[in-house]
Amino acid sequence: MNPRLTKIIATLGPASGNKNQIRGLARAGVNVFRLNLSHGDHSVVRRWIKFIREVEAETGIFLGILLDLQGPKIRVGKFEGGSILLHKGQKVVLSTDRGMGRDGWIPVQYAHFPKEVKPGDPVFLDDGKLCVRANRVIANRVEAQVEVGGRLSNFKGLNLPDALIQTSPLTRKDRADLKFGLHEGVDFVALSFVGMARDVLQLRRLIRSQGGDAEVVAKIERKQAVQNLDEIVEASDAVMVARGDLGIEMPLSDVPVVQLKILQACAKHAKPVIVATQMLETMIENSRPTRAEISDISNSVSDCADAIMLSGETAVGKHPRAAVSVMVETALKTEEFQRENQRILPWSWFFKDQPPVHLGITYSANRLVELLGAKAIMLFTLTGGTARMVSSPHPMVPLLAFTSCRKRARKLTLVRGAVPFMVEESKNFLENLGELFRLLKKNRLVKKGDRVVITTGLPMGIPQWTNVIRVERVP
Ligand code: PEP
Repeated sequence: MNPRLTKIIATLGPASGNKNQIRGLARAGVNVFRLNLSHGDHSVVRRWIKFIREVEAETGIFLGILLDLQGPKIRVGKFEGGSILLHKGQKVVLSTDRGMGRDGWIPVQYAHFPKEVKPGDPVFLDDGKLCVRANRVIANRVEAQVEVGGRLSNFKGLNLPDALIQTSPLTRKDRADLKFGLHEGVDFVALSFVGMARDVLQLRRLIRSQGGDAEVVAKIERKQAVQNLDEIVEASDAVMVARGDLGIEMPLSDVPVVQLKILQACAKHAKPVIVATQMLETMIENSRPTRAEISDISNSVSDCADAIMLSGETAVGKHPRAAVSVMVETALKTEEFQRENQRILPWSWFFKDQPPVHLGITYSANRLVELLGAKAIMLFTLTGGTARMVSSPHPMVPLLAFTSCRKRARKLTLVRGAVPFMVEESKNFLENLGELFRLLKKNRLVKKGDRVVITTGLPMGIPQWTNVIRVERVP
């Protein structure tokens, strides 16, 4: 059986946070664990991180850790009696004044709300289930009319898809959570409600200023982020298609197309991309998924997402391990089909003008795999750049990625097809191929007679410096 190329991310929570459960999920196929601080405080999350590192040492499976910062989720306040009913056509006031909400009066917990909302803007409430439209802004009150009514209860979320949100998506809580996460050595930090590249760069500066090396994952969940997609992808280390909030910020029917655009932008910039949210939503309760959920996973794999993500399914669901197994089986079957129907990479898809050397090598390595029927690409990477580049045209063979840095090996858990290996010294690898082939044969990743394409940058450690390509037959 060929190794799975698509990576799996599982969110930890009360349903999956003990060591046995984490071990079970890792053995079932999880590559990266996502820690969402809405499911646990620092002491709980610290224990999860300890368990993940212990499981990694016991099993020898590299496990990435992704800390997901909550960001400035805008919420309504509290209501007398816990909730109010909104009727279509009703006039209501949304206000940042202190005090409880009541019939026709909705408290908003976001000081900039009256400055950022304009007359005519829609305001979505409770995950987009309800909608009011702003008519007039007077000081810190917004008069609005209900378009889609229903019951609105305490602390439900509020979305402003048409507003230009100027404030940084890094809240005071996020800064404290980041400091905690960096201290615990997380590998990736996800930034919620990114609007522009500046937000990503701000987080990266903050990480560097604390001596951290965590990679930044930009969550695309705002309309503004979709408008600024290219600059955000360029500024980020990886990207998440956060379909939950995206489906509130824009018509649901737009979300699949936006997903494809994000995947294409990430391939162009050689950045890993995660497809997230509701992939197996019904498995929170049921032991079997729906046909449509399986098709969603299969389509994401066909579209060459680097990773697919489970949220509530593993955090609070009744069948966390089964959900991971469903993803594994679906990904493997889809990849098998893709392999049998391998396409020849069109040159024009990859290049616009005269390409730099590393792009030429990347393309050629992928073409050689197709032309020679090679079974794997072997590469040597210090920064991870070569692995990301070679993965970006989506080869259908594993990328056997050797590095002498454990932290780098963990970061490869998010790159499609990458199978990380630690080697002591990567400088003389071309002279030590025999030893590396023995290791790969032992792990059943190649067998005698297989052709492999080898690529790297020499000297090593220079970003965007992939300049060596070689073909070997496994002895
Ligand atoms: C999403 O909105 O799809 C998402 C992944 O973000 P969160 O789960 O933090 O709301």
